[in-house]
Amino acid sequence: MSTGYDPKTIRKDFPLLSEPSGRLRAYLDSAASSQTPRHVLEAVSGFYERYRANVHRGMYEASERATERYEKSRKTVADFLGADESEIIFTSGTTHGLNLAVQLIEPRLGPGDEIVTTEMEHHANLIPWQQAAKRSGATLRLIPVREDYTLDMEAARRLIGPQTKFVAVTWASNVLGTVSPVAEICALAKEAGALSVVDAAQIAGHRPIDVRQVGCDFLAFSAHKMLGPTGTGALYGRRPFLDELEPVSFGGDMIKEVTFEGATWNEAPFRFEPGTPNIAGVIGLGAAIEYLNRLGIKSIWEHEKELTDYAFARLTEVEGLKVIGAAADKDRVGTIAFLVEGIHPHDLATVLDAHGVCVRAGHHCAMPLHHKFGIKTGTTRMSFGPYTLKEEIDALIEAVHKAKQVFRV
Ligand code: PMP
Repeated sequence: MSTGYDPKTIRKDFPLLSEPSGRLRAYLDSAASSQTPRHVLEAVSGFYERYRANVHRGMYEASERATERYEKSRKTVADFLGADESEIIFTSGTTHGLNLAVQLIEPRLGPGDEIVTTEMEHHANLIPWQQAAKRSGATLRLIPVREDYTLDMEAARRLIGPQTKFVAVTWASNVLGTVSPVAEICALAKEAGALSVVDAAQIAGHRPIDVRQVGCDFLAFSAHKMLGPTGTGALYGRRPFLDELEPVSFGGDMIKEVTFEGATWNEAPFRFEPGTPNIAGVIGLGAAIEYLNRLGIKSIWEHEKELTDYAFARLTEVEGLKVIGAAADKDRVGTIAFLVEGIHPHDLATVLDAHGVCVRAGHHCAMPLHHKFGIKTGTTRMSFGPYTLKEEIDALIEAVHKAKQVFRV
């Protein structure tokens, strides 16, 4: 494993980014899913090869070791978020975490109540709230995104009030790159007596997180977007608030005592983790955090900021290209969506692929946001990780020029 942080040298830690395989020549799709370093792969295979057994149950060495590593990851995640271990619920990812948060607090919602979210949410932080509003008779209110692709905070101050029960906000938009003033929004929620839920899918692994500073009640993220395995993530839930909540899924490991008539619950967070968890995934998530810490999250942040500035400078060279997202001098992450006049985003992505450039094209699970800006086709999106190089951005720019020749625009 590399020590220190140099984006070029760490690429050898990532099988798909390094020679001889180097199959992903220009990987600019880290917002969809990141690449995985060997340190994480070894942690996952180490579990299967050396001590594979279930957790929290067996009275033998392999099971005890699996439990110890699984719970060690909980501590690692807690430290990563500035939280306590007892506040970390393992999930299958951000989508699961956000849906779980909604289910846990939905019993507090009734007719006349309001939920405030934003126009730039991923579907995973919009649809669960729409459904909860429908079931309960509550109303969903949206903080608008302004023409400069930032949140309208004046509207936020108007919208969040005594009728607000929950406020749900993404920390960073997976389309616009816009970073929300989450601490300010959570403070507004708190003032109004509302609970706050933060979607940190596009921040985890890119910037330091301190849940106490953010002041949220829940925060969700996915391991696979921050160098960890797929199918794993975590939901932070503030204590002692978490202790007040009733579980919504039931089964093994989450109970204290069961009779034929009923059951009592284990303490938080275990009461929210029924059944056998994704043990290998959780151990891999812990390893991903170890690896990120070794690189230094602040250094990753600086690197991605430099890449963003570079990408904006190069994108302005392309005639007919329009960025759909926050300008480089705004508070933003390295996720840049754009349109090229006369070329459908899917066609563009296909040509880019032919030149070895991996990007995403479509609505990026934020269809209403695209429609708000009058975009029916979706956008093409590039996004960065700690291993991204300027040369990959150059490859994209070159391929966009080629696409313009192909489509004669
Ligand atoms: N929220 C945001 C902002 C995202 O970018 C994503 C993933 N694209 C999600 C939620 C959902 O994450 P997952 O698919 O890992 O559950």
